[in-house]
This record gives sequence, structure tokens and C-alpha cells, in this order.
Amino acid sequence: MKLSQKQLSVRTNARCEMRDITSEVRTIVRDSGIRSGNVTVFCPHTTAAITINENADPSVTHDILLTLEELIPENRRGYRHSEGNSDAHVKSSLVGCSETIFIEKGSLVLGTWQGIYFCEFDGPRSRTVIVQIMGE
Ligand code: ZN
Repeated sequence: MKLSQKQLSVRTNARCEMRDITSEVRTIVRDSGIRSGNVTVFCPHTTAAITINENADPSVTHDILLTLEELIPENRRGYRHSEGNSDAHVKSSLVGCSETIFIEKGSLVLGTWQGIYFCEFDGPRSRTVIVQIMGE
């Protein structure tokens, strides 16, 4: 069994944004030489997240962000965290900090319409994504 770990830099441009990182993850998997196994995409930040969703129609990511914004407003009575970004922490925990994708014959096993997204909830910032591949 082989293990390979790489980091990806993501520069976000808005406070809330979903950035498609599928092609970057594909390249890291291809370069690892691992043909069968799985890849974990992990976000080491408390105000960002990783998710998998549709990458064909850009309206979908727009609607996801719109819905999160409505459910978890930036300003809300009762928040205590003094940094003023409590909504970003809540969104990060709800969406989650990692995704695991299977690798078969050197390719990511994703549905036709699925892409891997880095979700920014307190940007713009420079972010890191950790990509770990396990297999043979
Ligand atoms: Zn904070």
C-alpha cells in the first residue's frame, strides 16, 4: 500500500464562494501513480469546508450559497464569538471539512454531474487543502 500527501493552495475572491477543485485533485491523483484506492480531500480551516455537488449548472452553487446565507445569517442576535464570523464557523461545521472519493484505474469515481468544491465562508483569503491518497 502506498500513501501520498500533497497540499493545494486556493486563493478565494469573495466572502462566500464555492470553488471547483476537481481538476486539481485529479492531477494530484494522476501524479501519485496510485491506480486503486481512495483520496481524502481535507480542509484544515474552521471557516471553510469541502463538499461534492453538481458542476454542470453554476446556478446550483449559487443556490446552495443563497440557502446557507438565509439559514445562517452573518449578523444574528445572540452570537458571542468576538471575531464576528460565527456564521462562517456554523456553515463550516454543517458542510463538513472533508470528502473521500474512490480511485479506480487511476481515475476519480465521481458521478457524471459531480465535482469537488472548496467552500469559502469568510474570504477572500489564501487557503490550503490537504489531499491524501491511499492505495496501490
Ligand atoms: Zn472566528
